[in-house]
Amino acid sequence: GLARFPFVRDLSGFDFAAQPSLDKAQIRELSTGRFIANGEAVLLLGPPGVGKTHLAVALGREAIVAGYTVLFVPATTLVAQLAKAHQDCRLEERLTHYGKPKLLIVDELGYLPFEPDAAHLFFQLVSRRYERGAMLVTSNRPVGEWGTVFGDAVVATAILDRLLHHSHVVTIRGDSYRLREKRRSGLLQ
Ligand code: ADP
Ligand code: MG
Repeated sequence: GLARFPFVRDLSGFDFAAQPSLDKAQIRELSTGRFIANGEAVLLLGPPGVGKTHLAVALGREAIVAGYTVLFVPATTLVAQLAKAHQDCRLEERLTHYGKPKLLIVDELGYLPFEPDAAHLFFQLVSRRYERGAMLVTSNRPVGEWGTVFGDAVVATAILDRLLHHSHVVTIRGDSYRLREKRRSGLLQ
């Protein structure tokens, strides 16, 4: 199937030594796809540039190799498409579309705050997939700030309640890999 990854990355290309806060064994466990078979959620949290999207794509590739259907979608695209579908009275169709893949990867939640309406649409998607399909969500905001991200503390709590119920939370602390590369090449002090 078409996973729509934004770039090609794999686990062998991930420099774990550069990210000591990351539990390599946990990532290896996630790469088995067991969380997908169990319909669980993975949250990849951390500041920009620490490899969240890289890991999301790499785990998505592993999932495809293991025979799962995978769809990758940036959070802003997902929410825009749900809002458009809602407007066109085709929300059900869109929810079915995003409900289908065994693994749905939602990348970069929280870079832009949601409209209150969008928060509710995202909630409907999470409810649709809950205990049926796995989700992997990356975010630069800790879950404690999701109320602000969603612009609605009640909806954010309901979303987190479902996402965190059967979940694997991977928090990456550390420096941006992009800046580290720049620093190395002397472009930054
Ligand atoms: P984030 O999604 O957390 O903002 P990305 O995954 O987009 O960060 O990483 C930024 C760039 O740096 C990408 O090209 C990615 O492949 C690379 N990168 C980040 N961390 C690592 C790492 N530990 N090893 C190898 N490449 C990395
Ligand atoms: Mg990213």
